Amino acid sequence: MKKAVYRGIRDMEVVEGPVPQIGPYEVLLQVKYCSICGTDIRIYHYGHFKIPPGTERVLGHEVVGVIASVGSEVRGLAPGMRVAVAPNIGCGQCEVCLRGWNQLCPDYQAFGISLDGGFQEYMKITAPAVLRGNIVGIPDGVSFEEAVLVEPLSCVYNGVEAVDIRAADVVVIIGAGPIGLLHVQMAKLKGAAKVILSETVEERLQDGARFGADVLVNPSKEDLKSVIFKETGGKGADVVITACSVPAVQQRALELAGVFGRINLFGGLPRGQETVPLNTNLIHYKQLKVTATTGSNYHQFRRSMELIAAGRVEVKSLIEGIYRLESIKDAFERVAGKASNRKVVIGFDW
Ligand SMILES: [Zn+2]
Ligand SMILES: [Zn+2]
Repeated sequence: MKKAVYRGIRDMEVVEGPVPQIGPYEVLLQVKYCSICGTDIRIYHYGHFKIPPGTERVLGHEVVGVIASVGSEVRGLAPGMRVAVAPNIGCGQCEVCLRGWNQLCPDYQAFGISLDGGFQEYMKITAPAVLRGNIVGIPDGVSFEEAVLVEPLSCVYNGVEAVDIRAADVVVIIGAGPIGLLHVQMAKLKGAAKVILSETVEERLQDGARFGADVLVNPSKEDLKSVIFKETGGKGADVVITACSVPAVQQRALELAGVFGRINLFGGLPRGQETVPLNTNLIHYKQLKVTATTGSNYHQFRRSMELIAAGRVEVKSLIEGIYRLESIKDAFERVAGKASNRKVVIGFDW
């Protein structure tokens, strides 16, 4: 079988290798699609602390496929089932896991990071993942192309829950990449009265209306803060979500929120730019709640699949291109070079 092996910074190669062997509690997945995430790009360019030098790793954590075989002790899963795989596996025993937040477990494992992921034809799903519920069935009527976006959707689901969007809220989303467009949809589903979408790339911005954004702002052409204050009768936004990796946007978010505003600094920042001076008096005098979220837990992953199955979220049109595994480096370049406005996916015999 073919697999894309990552060996270190900007070192990745598609090679032939044996199909992984599985043990009695493990599952072998025939991968159908694995989409490229910003995290994959970051690992490719900067490495990851869970991938020590000298390690060979298959990246890719947004994976769907068909179960090829199951170990003798696996219950409830069978060959032929169409499934998505939640990437993060908690230890199952620490307090964070027991509270249901497996992705925040200090000892987490993750496909595509500490375990081989989906940029290969066959992927082994390890026993802890099988037993804890990382494998989620894809409902009839949901295509693989839709299901492959359940992971990013679940991260957005988590992000939106954390700022508790309520009916009549004015929500500002900064960044109209695939994640920003999912945030737009989730904010509307949660009952936001008005979603204001901000994006400097005009092509991305104009798509926002189709996904439910009520007001489109290009901050390189007009002042975002004035638009928000005009749209809110001078009050400022109830919720601000930064769906981009720009430090200055995090500073700006505090200015855009009104009194009691809730802010999610959703997009992680590039290495070396993580320390951002914030005017904490804005938090103080407006009694803001500032948080950030990462990944999603098992429950949120399942709920997100249900949302896709119910047709409440448009995911398929967020995919702009499918590449074969052999062209994975071109696909990575496309995403890294900001040439893509949407999701780029690696596909196997589609
Ligand atoms: Zn991801
Ligand atoms: Zn744990």
